[in-house]
Amino acid sequence: MTRKIFNSIIMVAGAVLLASTVIIMGFLYSYLEKVRGDDLKNELELLITAFEEDGISYLEKIQSEHYRITWIGTDGEVLYDTVTGTASIENHLEREEVKNAFAIGEGKSNRYSDTLFEKTMYYAKKLEDGTVLRISVSTSSVGVLVFGMLQPIMAVILITFIISGILADRASKRIVKPLNGLDLDAPLDNEIYEELSPLLNKINRKKRKIKTQLKEIQRQEAEFTQIIGCMNEGLVLIDKDGTVLRINPAANKIFSLNESCVGKNFLTVYRDHEMGLCMKEAEETGHSEIQQSRFGREYQFVVNRIESEGEVIGSVLLIFDVTERVLAERNRREFTASVSHELKTPLQGILGSVELIENSMVKPEDVSTFVGHIRKEAQRLVTLVNDVIRLSQLDERADMEKENVDLLKLAAEASESIATVAKNKKIEVQVSGSPTEICGVKKLLYDIVYNLCDNAVKYTDEGGKVTIDIVDRKNEAVLTVSDTGIGIPNEDIDRIFERFYRVDKSHSKETGGTGLGLSIVKHAVAYHHGTISVHSEVGRGTTIIIEIPK
Ligand code: ADP
Repeated sequence: MTRKIFNSIIMVAGAVLLASTVIIMGFLYSYLEKVRGDDLKNELELLITAFEEDGISYLEKIQSEHYRITWIGTDGEVLYDTVTGTASIENHLEREEVKNAFAIGEGKSNRYSDTLFEKTMYYAKKLEDGTVLRISVSTSSVGVLVFGMLQPIMAVILITFIISGILADRASKRIVKPLNGLDLDAPLDNEIYEELSPLLNKINRKKRKIKTQLKEIQRQEAEFTQIIGCMNEGLVLIDKDGTVLRINPAANKIFSLNESCVGKNFLTVYRDHEMGLCMKEAEETGHSEIQQSRFGREYQFVVNRIESEGEVIGSVLLIFDVTERVLAERNRREFTASVSHELKTPLQGILGSVELIENSMVKPEDVSTFVGHIRKEAQRLVTLVNDVIRLSQLDERADMEKENVDLLKLAAEASESIATVAKNKKIEVQVSGSPTEICGVKKLLYDIVYNLCDNAVKYTDEGGKVTIDIVDRKNEAVLTVSDTGIGIPNEDIDRIFERFYRVDKSHSKETGGTGLGLSIVKHAVAYHHGTISVHSEVGRGTTIIIEIPK
């Protein structure tokens, strides 16, 4: 900018200098012309006075190289000329100045030499005797005048340019200096050139706009960071070259990344062939999904292509933890297979017995035994179907009606239900504790107490003892069912709550067990937000403690 201002000043100075030189020369020349003309006229006047007194002898005495005096007769013939004398030269009647002198008393004219370097000024005046006396002088033309002054002009131009250069340099620096010191952070606080006010106002407006937009972007960015930070699902934003733009903490955890992978290529961070293919497919089709297990959990990776104005700008990878869903699906499949199997066994027993009776292959005295067998199997089927229904109700987490239930009462009811079986096995059943009310679903709470008592009697040998104890604590009710039975091996304790899991299958079936009793207990306790703990020793007995918050 400084250079531009400098150049402009120099150019303006040059133009002004040139114009003023031309104008001054013009004026000077015309002034000199006028002065010369006036001089010539005065000379002629003096000459005429002397000529009228002395006649031609005066002209003959003039020895001037500067002036040329010509005396012209009334017919235009030259009577005397200070250069040629009386020698005849051409008739001057047609010369402009002579013609005018004859016509109006005086006349003047200028004529240039062939080379245009010289100019001759003529002045003629009519005398009293009718003849004309003419004086002429040769001077340099404008060109020669200018040429003659070229040196001083050049010197003036040079000096002017040097001075202009110095001044222009200072001026341009002085003009630019405040501009360099402009504080664009506070445009309106600058007090320099008034002409800059509109520009500074505009900058200030733009600055305010940018500031607002920046704030909005920062707000959105913070909001976005907070949202993706709170997400349980993993989220990775990837640009079209595969570089990670954003990754949320959940995704970092899934890929077990200690440091941020932002700016790195995603497939170098997560080197997986299947993922590479998935991303390629998403790039081509717009969407792709895969399921993979990592560190014992199942994840679903969903990649979606992102487009803007018809152009692919990247992709977004969402990672869902589908472990529970996968497990539930697996459990459901296994449960269906197990239920089918469990239903088939008693049905086959019933069918077999029925076929034998139908084909009269059973002695009449044995028929009642077979019918008893059919009843037992049918009873097992009913119990199984009831347990399955109860479990599916619990699975669906259907809302069931809650009421205040006294656990001690339920324990008494359950002990009564198992009393016959216990009596047959000579097992002593003891119910102790204080009345303890909790708010819950009565039939589920009964299932808990009954299944535990039923198991205790089932898995206790003759002459054993079963104790049911209810304790009313401040915030929870505690149900403890202990037996002196066969006990559960340590390695099985964790599995006894699985559906259809039995430690000893034949023993369970013998006693009419479905393998679903403890599953129902687990779900029913969970429904009431309670906890279960099992303590058991093989050959000595089992204690199961249920704590349910009031
Ligand atoms: P089941 O209908 O076979 O009793 P459960 O789900 O009620 O099924 O119990 C699962 C398994 O846990 C039983 O098959 C049994 O092996 C074991 N079990 C449960 N309660 C006891 C107990 N009190 N003593 C010993 N083993 C038990």
